[in-house]
Amino acid sequence: MLIHLKPAASGRDRDDVREWVEARGLRTRSFVVGDRHIVACSGPGIHGDVDFGELGRRRQVDRVEPSPHPLAARGGGDRRAVLIGDDLTVGGQDLLVAAGPCSVESYDQLARSAWAVAGAGARLLRGGAYKPRSSPYAFQGLGLEGLRLLADVRRETGLPVVTEVMDPRLVDSVAEHADVLQVGARNMQNVPLLRELGRIERPVLLKRGLSATLDELLLAAEYVLAGGNASVILCERGIRTFGDATRFTLDLSAVPALQRRTHLPVLVDPSHAAGDRELVEPLACAAVAAGADGLIVEVHPRPSEAWSDADQALAPGAFAELMHRLAGFAAAAGRRLPLPDIGPRREVVG
Ligand code: PEP
Ligand code: MN
Repeated sequence: MLIHLKPAASGRDRDDVREWVEARGLRTRSFVVGDRHIVACSGPGIHGDVDFGELGRRRQVDRVEPSPHPLAARGGGDRRAVLIGDDLTVGGQDLLVAAGPCSVESYDQLARSAWAVAGAGARLLRGGAYKPRSSPYAFQGLGLEGLRLLADVRRETGLPVVTEVMDPRLVDSVAEHADVLQVGARNMQNVPLLRELGRIERPVLLKRGLSATLDELLLAAEYVLAGGNASVILCERGIRTFGDATRFTLDLSAVPALQRRTHLPVLVDPSHAAGDRELVEPLACAAVAAGADGLIVEVHPRPSEAWSDADQALAPGAFAELMHRLAGFAAAAGRRLPLPDIGPRREVVG
């Protein structure tokens, strides 16, 4: 529920509204939209038990807007950036590009990936230690050893890392080693996992389920937000449709549609949508043109030898090319993509 106050409402009026709501066992969070305040109410009694009618009739209340996901709702306000580590933000003026291998395979593979993507302008290193593979016989990730490698490479390169957590019991251990915890598409509605992630203070990258609607994605985000973790980043990574030209169908309309509904940043993963390295660049450019707050891209020092998702991995050289192309799309979309100054364009050998 979102309570919109009138511009003339005072701080006292706002406090009265909050007290009224909190006395009914709900939590509140207020934010400003232009010249007015909005009080977002969340909690178990939100669906029916609490009658907001009385509040709606108050002189200083403009309207009461039902929202299934009040904490994720934009409510007409500004979009908000999420802070990663001490000084990296996503959802502001600068685009955030996360890049790295699908899976962490070895120190050498991860370190080479990290230096290459950092040199091309990525600000966040991706790499899976726990992999949600379709087949139980496929490589499942290095587990804790993979987390340790991520932490080592993060220390050496200064790049913060994002990695997937699948098991609620491993949230603390993954949070110890990573700066952002990823919820994979297959776990978007893993409620015990979402609840655990609501307890921690690390940002959560929540990928859209293969067949999830945008409301379902926002409700999944709401679980994390309602648990007390305010830092959620959404990610469109392609959905299942009858289209068979790509591994999944990248739903780019989700980008502006989500941004209209939520204040949370929205990334796009062109790699898992494409499933084919040749298609990653055009999808990435289109995502930036559509207003995405950033991208997450798979890059491997020897793409064809990758232990998972080899077909969609970019070589370091192709990734550097992509970053240069993206800079133009970023500027056209009114965003910045700060690239390291590497002097004249050089060929990077993949
Ligand atoms: C991944 O990013 O490594 C991954 C498995 O992606 P998704 O959950 O989107 O399939
Ligand atoms: Mn992958």
